[in-house]
Amino acid sequence: MFRQMESAGLQDLHFWQDPDTGLQAIIAIHDTFRGPAIGGCRFITYPDTSAAIEDAIRLARGMSYKSALAGLPHGGGKSVIIKPAGRYNRGLLMQSFGRFVDSLDGRYITAMDSGTQISDMDNIALSTRYVTCTQDMGDPSPSTADGVFAGIKASLQFRLGHNELDKVHIALQGLGHVGWALAKQLHNAGARLSVTDIDPVKTARAKTELGATVVSPDEIYDVEADIFCPCGLGAIISPDTINRLRCGIVAGSANNQLADEAMGDALCERGILYAPDYLINSGGLIFVALQHARHHEQAIRQKVATIYDSLLELYQHADADQLATSYVADIRAEAIIHQASLKSHQAA
Ligand code: NAD
Repeated sequence: MFRQMESAGLQDLHFWQDPDTGLQAIIAIHDTFRGPAIGGCRFITYPDTSAAIEDAIRLARGMSYKSALAGLPHGGGKSVIIKPAGRYNRGLLMQSFGRFVDSLDGRYITAMDSGTQISDMDNIALSTRYVTCTQDMGDPSPSTADGVFAGIKASLQFRLGHNELDKVHIALQGLGHVGWALAKQLHNAGARLSVTDIDPVKTARAKTELGATVVSPDEIYDVEADIFCPCGLGAIISPDTINRLRCGIVAGSANNQLADEAMGDALCERGILYAPDYLINSGGLIFVALQHARHHEQAIRQKVATIYDSLLELYQHADADQLATSYVADIRAEAIIHQASLKSHQAA
């Protein structure tokens, strides 16, 4: 386990079990050099404990990188609650998880993620103040969609020299919280949409309300479009899909879009502009971090809008140095975190 932590650069890993509620949870803290670790809490079924630990570690590192590039005063953390196999009381389980978060004295701030909802955050808030996305704060998905919308415009500007959405065709995968909000914005701006989802109710709605063309989940990779916009699963850019893409840009909200680091280089070699996932989808993190720090809505919107300039600047840097955009994002994030760790060691 220490080897696993070391290779991810993880600071600490915490475990908690509570026989009264059936809670088994893990909190992974990647770093706290730039401030308290922040990141969502997953509540899903795992095949075994190792898979849950691996998920928490991998996701915590991603949060550090996201926070660093967004310029937020936070490190990265992530928690997972292993979904109990038998009967359980969800409210009590979440309250127990809140006690776990509280035991870390603010080193980790939790938020919504796959499988958790606003009511869970409200229950967690009964035991700790280190929680966001409660009823009075709201869902970060609309801010994530706003950030991706800004990132899509920056990508078009860089690649095509304009960002007129009524002249582009977008293939969008996943019509969930973020995907649906984004599809509506793109439609309102005049973009032509081809969409997919494993849920036929969502695709039918997109066809009726947004005039979208519906394709099957597998066909989405073959759609000839200006942009492929992944808003569903991770690891969708893989050796199996990369050569099928018929787009000039990959820009979407999904976390961990590249199955491995080599896919970033492969996209670059194919001449496909890739918007690094943890930069373009950082609107949700900006929302939760600034909400937690009690910033106003206007300040949050302004900060989310800066994703446009950050992405454009990163594209220019990558282009000038003939590097993959994913590589430039990684080295920048790592440099920011390293710099903060040096400062913290010097201060100590
Ligand atoms: P969600 O669960 O609400 O939506 C995901 C959608 O993808 C669902 O409609 C689901 O049916 C669909 N889907 C699943 N498998 C699919 C497949 N094989 N083909 C097509 N569609 C499929 O999740 P969300 O909150 O909208 O997040 C979407 C992505 O963005 C995730 O990868 C998430 O990690 C990432 N993300 C979300 C936020 C946020 O604020 N919600 C922030 C940052 C990143």
